[in-house]
Amino acid sequence: MEETMRAEIITIGDELLIGQVVDTNSAFMAQELNKVGVEIYQVTSVHDDGEHIRRAVAESLSRVDIVITTGGLGPTKDDITKHVLCDFFGAKLVPSCDVEQHVKQLYCNRPDVLNRLTETQWLVPDKCTVLPNRVGSAPLMVFEQDGKLLFSLPGVPYEMEVAMIEQVMPYLAKHRPTNETIIHRTIQVAGIPESALAIHIEQWEDALPGTMHLAYLPKDGIIRLRLSGYFDKNDTTAEQQINVQIANLEALVAEWLIAVEDQPLEVVAGELLKAKGATISTAESCTGGKLASLLNKHAGSSEFYYGSVVAYDNSVKQRILSVSKAYLEQYGAVSEQVVTQMAEGARRVCGTDYAIATSGVAGPSGGTKDKPVGTVWIAVATPDAVYSELLHLTGSRDQITTRACTKALTKLIKYLRD
Ligand code: ATP
Ligand code: MG
Repeated sequence: MEETMRAEIITIGDELLIGQVVDTNSAFMAQELNKVGVEIYQVTSVHDDGEHIRRAVAESLSRVDIVITTGGLGPTKDDITKHVLCDFFGAKLVPSCDVEQHVKQLYCNRPDVLNRLTETQWLVPDKCTVLPNRVGSAPLMVFEQDGKLLFSLPGVPYEMEVAMIEQVMPYLAKHRPTNETIIHRTIQVAGIPESALAIHIEQWEDALPGTMHLAYLPKDGIIRLRLSGYFDKNDTTAEQQINVQIANLEALVAEWLIAVEDQPLEVVAGELLKAKGATISTAESCTGGKLASLLNKHAGSSEFYYGSVVAYDNSVKQRILSVSKAYLEQYGAVSEQVVTQMAEGARRVCGTDYAIATSGVAGPSGGTKDKPVGTVWIAVATPDAVYSELLHLTGSRDQITTRACTKALTKLIKYLRD
């Protein structure tokens, strides 16, 4: 096998370095490049500063054969990438009829946008190939130097995504075909500590072929196990080889299995509900509708999600969910008895097959000696029974309610699988 093709990504923009915007562009680009066997060696974020951009470009080009930058292509003064690259590659800016036509067409109904700043968009370096930007005004530029390629793409995530899929990837396939396929597969498990899991699957992991590598990605009680395989492009058994390993791993972790794909929990739960033709509702106290929002987040949720009762005050728990006054007085709202009645109540009121309920102390105040901040009861009502669980969570108010949702969905998935 020939040496792996490596690329680097440079994201440009002050907003990325002051924490105003999270760099999601590089994650998208890395995934696309990985699919065709291009490995990302380094991701760099730099300020909208000429010298900073120049140095990052020079360093990346010294290390790898493909460099992709995003951001700083706009017509405003703070966007300087085009000028810096022009300078770096010893080019000069010349007007491009194609880009001019495209920009005028793009803004044909927006005379207010066609001003003297926008006109700078059709000035392009004379030493680059300009690829069409179907959804934006900034030119997509490809520079070539000593056999190395540099792509400059817009920072707007949607524009960058269209540019990657419609222009960069086909351009690379044509001009820099790879010899490798990289396949990533992810399994999600919950209910076992990472170290115990590592011991449990140690033999399997040690026996993996040298072309495969396992990574542990734990978060909020869920562990994602990502198996990455590096294959020759012409190896027609690649998929099968990785499937065999994943099947063996799946069997090993069956007891804790959440999903065999890298999907959000609410999607996993939704798919399982759809497969059963079953419906769900929620009764939420401390999570205040977070579960409702998750279950309704993805297209097609109407097939299984019916509704929710956000029963924050005890009066609502009583009046709508028929939680008993005696239980509330005797055990308190954060109790097994109450959360169980909440789940049963939601199931009945909403007319669903399943229901999940939460009641807890999200903090930062309101904790007591018996029920400190982070004490959360969750319950899953199934057609046959109600299963409840006491959680002791830590973190901020937002982290506690988010983790309660994760735990509730994990528990639901477990009963949907059984
Ligand atoms: P425009 O022509 O619209 O000015 P541009 O190429 O100059 O595009 P920027 O101005 O740098 O791009 O960024 C445009 C928008 O995209 C900004 O709102 C910015 O927050 C967002 N953005 C830029 N870089 C990234 C990134 N790496 N990840 C996510 N969002 C980004
Ligand atoms: Mg910018």
